[in-house]
Amino acid sequence: MGTHVLEEEAMLTALPTDADTIMALDRDYVMGTYARLPVVFVRGEGARLWDSEGREYLDFLSGIAVAGVGHCHPKVAGAIAEQAHRLMHISNLFHNPLAAKLAERLCKLADMEKVFFCNSGTEANEAALKIARKWGKQKRGAECIEIITFVGSFHGRTMGAVSATAQPKYQAPFAPLVPGFIYAPLNDLAALDELITEKTCAVMIEPLQGESGVNPATPEFLAGVRALCDEAEVLLILDEIQCGMGRTGHFLASQGVGVQGDIVTMAKGIADGFPMGACLARGSAATTLVPGDHGSTFAGQPLACAASLATLDVMEEEELMARAAEVGAYFKAGLQALQQTLPTQIKEVRGRGLMVGLQLTNPDAKTVHKYLMEAGIVANATSDTTLRFVPPLVVTKEDCDRVVATIERALRAL
Ligand code: PLP
Repeated sequence: MGTHVLEEEAMLTALPTDADTIMALDRDYVMGTYARLPVVFVRGEGARLWDSEGREYLDFLSGIAVAGVGHCHPKVAGAIAEQAHRLMHISNLFHNPLAAKLAERLCKLADMEKVFFCNSGTEANEAALKIARKWGKQKRGAECIEIITFVGSFHGRTMGAVSATAQPKYQAPFAPLVPGFIYAPLNDLAALDELITEKTCAVMIEPLQGESGVNPATPEFLAGVRALCDEAEVLLILDEIQCGMGRTGHFLASQGVGVQGDIVTMAKGIADGFPMGACLARGSAATTLVPGDHGSTFAGQPLACAASLATLDVMEEEELMARAAEVGAYFKAGLQALQQTLPTQIKEVRGRGLMVGLQLTNPDAKTVHKYLMEAGIVANATSDTTLRFVPPLVVTKEDCDRVVATIERALRAL
């Protein structure tokens, strides 16, 4: 396939076609913020990717939990193309029908009342942080600006979001951080209880921590956090940027455990790869921001909304949430069976639906990851000991079998 398509495209657009030239340009001209692997992807379809050499890969990463309904789904690609010919952008000083419709749909799906659109997960969290601070000041005065987040969390890279991200490796080079963030241990309700004070305006949590290696908050803990927030009259912000959009078998992972936030942030899979984020809220949090408080030039633009509406259509038509639950449970069971076979090498299998982490006993995750790539499987090592699998929701049980069998071969080869 791929080489032919690439050559044709390259002729039209004068793009470099060989991997070495592309990687050299990247090295010379792009800031080195990513430790990229030496692979150039040029095409995607469903759960498959092709590199510049025409080699096919099974994608068990999907961006990082982005291409939920699969790469280049014809309905999403078609909606983008059609909208691109009609109207790509209109200022937020005016209404647009796609944003209005998408807002209604997202609010209904997430059980929220209003949405602020933006362009990324980080921005969705920034909106949530600003709502929380303004809400807190209105409720209990100028001191009520503290936000509690959890050790191991990841909420983004801007100064507010990185201050919320309780991992020193992301924060240290950029200190001083935004003040007012307090970090609590995950799944320890007593510790959280101690930290909530009159100064707390919000607690912010990922129902399943993604970047730190798929660490779920337990259902009991999430319910307990909700209860503590209610008792102390503090907002609960759920960061569903990675675990939302049907990945765990429910539209929001929190819905799967029966916990409702006051604010929910989404991005990643929301438009299947087209940049978009959303900060949803209910109750008084939904009306805290007023004209002039917040905004973004590209937010809610017709093109992104068309992509997102089509993504939601596909999720519904292809029943991908139910599929994520079923195939995810099958994949997890496969990995758990492998753990029985190789108990000294596999420490834990974590996650829900198609958000799965594999914790190894020894620091072999990067070696296994390399083995998978060489075998044509895209995944990701979040640390020396943990592999993360967040595939498109369209993967099959056969795809899962192949990944489990390849991990087994990789572990046996160590
Ligand atoms: N929150 C969570 C839970 C994430 O996983 C991420 C990205 O990995 C973000 C926020 C930041 O999103 P973005 O990279 O779109 O800014």
